[in-house]
Amino acid sequence: MLLEHLNRRLREREAAALWRQRRVADSACAPLQHLAEGGEGTRALLAFCSNDYLGLAAHPALIDALAAGARRWGVGSGASALVSGHATPHAALEDELARWLAPYIPQAAVLGFCSGYMANLALLTTLADAEAVIFADKLNHASLIDGGLLAEARMRRYPHARLDLLDAMLADSTAALRLIVTDAVFSMDGDIAPLPELLALAERHDAWLIVDDAHGFGVLGEGGQGALAHFGLRSERIIYMGTLGKAAGVSGAFVAAHPLVVEALVQGARSYIYTTAPSPALAHTQLASLALIAGDEGAARRGHLNALVEALRTGLAAVIAAHPHCGWRLAESATAIQPLIVGDNAAAVALSAALEARGLRVPAIRPPTVPAGSARLRITLSAAHSRADVDRLCAALAQLASEGEHP
Ligand SMILES: *Cc1c(COP(=O)(O)O)cnc(C)c1O
Repeated sequence: MLLEHLNRRLREREAAALWRQRRVADSACAPLQHLAEGGEGTRALLAFCSNDYLGLAAHPALIDALAAGARRWGVGSGASALVSGHATPHAALEDELARWLAPYIPQAAVLGFCSGYMANLALLTTLADAEAVIFADKLNHASLIDGGLLAEARMRRYPHARLDLLDAMLADSTAALRLIVTDAVFSMDGDIAPLPELLALAERHDAWLIVDDAHGFGVLGEGGQGALAHFGLRSERIIYMGTLGKAAGVSGAFVAAHPLVVEALVQGARSYIYTTAPSPALAHTQLASLALIAGDEGAARRGHLNALVEALRTGLAAVIAAHPHCGWRLAESATAIQPLIVGDNAAAVALSAALEARGLRVPAIRPPTVPAGSARLRITLSAAHSRADVDRLCAALAQLASEGEHP
C-alpha cells in the first residue's frame, strides 16, 4: 500500500520534469569538480553551483585549523550545548561574532547553531507565539517558511519586496507582536532585500525585523560583515541570522540579536536545546574563517568575486541580445547568485544537460523551489573561479543559443 502510493507520487514527479538527483563528488569543493561516473571513473566538470562564494571551503588555513582544533578539542562535542557540549571555541566564536555585529545591533549577543535551517526554526518557533503575526516575503527561504508553519503565530506572506503591500498589512494588524521576516539576499534570485525600507516600516509599525543573511554574510559589506554593514543599518529591532557554510566555507549558523532575544532562544528553542552541539573543532575552524574573511585576503577575494560578477553579467547580456529568440532572461542581481531564467521546466533541464555535455555543471532549479514558469539555471560564482572560467561558460551558452539546441 505505502510502496504503491509512493511509487505513484514519484512517477508523477518524474513526469512533471521535477525529478531530483544527487551526484557523488569525488573531490573537495572547488570550481573543478570530479563527479563519479557509472563505473570506476570520474569526470571533471567546471561547476557553477556551490555557495562557497569566497572559495574558502578547501582553504589550506581552514584545513589546518580543523586538524588543530580536533587535536586540541576532539571531534565530537558529546552532548547538547545545555548539557555539556558547549566548549571554549563555541564561546569564543559567539564572542567574536557579537563583536562583528555590535556596530549594527546595539549590545548584540550571539548564539551558535548547527545549521541555518535550525536557526530559522528556532527563531520563528520561539519568538512567534500565538499573539504574534509573521509578515514574510513570498520568496523567503524554505527554512523560514517551515519555521513560520511550525510557529503558533499566523503567517502572512507579502509578494516579493512589495513594501506598499507589507505596509498595508502591518497597518491592518492589531497583533501584540509583529515580525517582519526576509532573506537579505534571495537565494534563487540573487537580489538584495530593501532592508533600509523594511527597517523603516518596522519602526513605523512597532515591528521587529528578522534578517536571514545566509548569502550576504562574508560577502557583503566592506569587511564581509554582511547585509547590515552593506546598508549601514543599526537598530535594536534587527534580529540577524548568518550562516557559516556558504561564504565562510565551513558549516553552521548563528543568531545575533538583543541579549533578551538570545536568552529566550537558549531557554526555549527546541532546535537549539534538543540537538548535539556542533563539533568544537568546527567552532575553532569557524573562528579561523572569520579571521580570513576580515583580513586582506578576504577583501581581495571579495574584489575578485565582484569583478567576476560584472564579467558574467556583461557576457550573458551579450548572449541574450544576440539571441533574443531563446527567451532567456537575466535576473536583476548584483550578487554572486546570477540566475538565467529559462521558464519551462523541461527546457531548463535540457539546457543544464547540454552544458554538462560540454563539461560545465550548472543546476536547473525548478518549482517548488522557484515559482511555476520560472525554471532557471542558477549560476553561482566563487572567488575560486577565474575570469577564463566565466568566459568559458558564456561561450558555451552563446553556442547553445545559436545552435538552438534547447527545446
Ligand atoms: C542555505 C540557507 C539557509 C540554511 O542554512 P544552512 O546552514 O544551509 O542550513 C537559510 N536561509 C537561506 C536564505 C539559505 O540560503
